[in-house]
Amino acid sequence: MTDFTRTRTLFDLPEGVVYLDGNSLGPLPKAACQRVAHMMAEEWAKLLITGWNKAGWMDMPSRIGDRIARLIGAPAKSVVMGDTLSIKVYQALASALELRPGRPVVLSDSGNFPSDLYMAQGLLASLGRDYELKVVEPEAVADAIDETVAVTMITEVDYRTGRLHDMKTLTKKAHEAGAVAIWDLAHSAGAVPVDVSGSDADFAVGCTYKYLNGGPGAPAFIYVAPRLADAIRPALSGWLGHEAPFAFERDYRPGAGIERMRVGTPPIIALASLDAAMDAWDGVDMLDIRARSIELSERFIAEVEARCPGLELASPRDPNRRGSQVSFRFKRGYETMQALIAAGVIGDFRAPDIMRFGFTPLYLDIDDVLAAVARLEEIMKRRLFEEPAYAVRAKVT
Ligand SMILES: *Cc1c(COP(=O)(O)O)cnc(C)c1O
Repeated sequence: MTDFTRTRTLFDLPEGVVYLDGNSLGPLPKAACQRVAHMMAEEWAKLLITGWNKAGWMDMPSRIGDRIARLIGAPAKSVVMGDTLSIKVYQALASALELRPGRPVVLSDSGNFPSDLYMAQGLLASLGRDYELKVVEPEAVADAIDETVAVTMITEVDYRTGRLHDMKTLTKKAHEAGAVAIWDLAHSAGAVPVDVSGSDADFAVGCTYKYLNGGPGAPAFIYVAPRLADAIRPALSGWLGHEAPFAFERDYRPGAGIERMRVGTPPIIALASLDAAMDAWDGVDMLDIRARSIELSERFIAEVEARCPGLELASPRDPNRRGSQVSFRFKRGYETMQALIAAGVIGDFRAPDIMRFGFTPLYLDIDDVLAAVARLEEIMKRRLFEEPAYAVRAKVT
């Protein structure tokens, strides 16, 4: 059984703040400060360039990849860290498309995060002519999988509503039609139990600054099914994905397995922070996370619906069809969220009218949920969202 009172002590959260935005940026794990300071003062300062060998920097993308692998049901040596999620989406899609020459369609859905769609648009434009990005409603994905589809590119949990796709069923459907299945786990890794092996996913990608608490801009991960990893061609054929980077050969040869999805020099300071963040997951069972997350979010929904008329649930009501976030629609959602943040409850807003709340059992409990609803109720009752100061739009919402 996961000890959530222990995990809570591992995070540095400001006094009095209820943080319901760990789905967007996880809070600071206390150990990350020490780890980064150690990396800088003891490794970088003292070892200089020998740190690549002596401090094991060069192995960090694979070593931390193995720590992520445990949380997403992947075997060791099938996940590697680096770059940002957008880049990893591009890499996965480029390699996947080459596995299905002659098929014109990349299938995704309108609940996907825009960057995934933008990266696909950019890649397909480079490939030219014959490709089409087909974007259907989330409920229509299964029926849209046919023999024209080369790749399904689906994000398991919808960033706006929290709606959860059935990864296993859709992957099976994709495979039956002869398509390759890419899964984006941005809102899944550390949020819900994921089983990339059991679902037979071909590729999976995700970021580590959301539920995994790696820090702003923390490096992304990519998984390639071991049955494919030695067969795919990496489109971003950087030197660190080469079979022998330090042979400095003129021509590219892909490295073994997942190593070929590395691109350039890994961000060691950011990886040190992420490594420390991953310590918080030691001894954590994703089934316990799931049970607690459902308990917290069900209570939140019940309390908000009872005490805050005017807010309309935008997430699926069935917890089995939701990830670890809850969204409510409200016309003055932006202003209400600003008022809520001013009152110490941090969630976020997604246009046009969605207020998002993330539930992260590592550092949240029922008291946090009740405190958050009490403050929200107060804002709604006193119509604090009408204050002009809360209507000012910031760059990041
Ligand atoms: C958060 C998120 C991203 C962000 O990509 P970055 O390159 O890390 O900025 C991309 N896709 C999905 C599905 C996301 O949820």
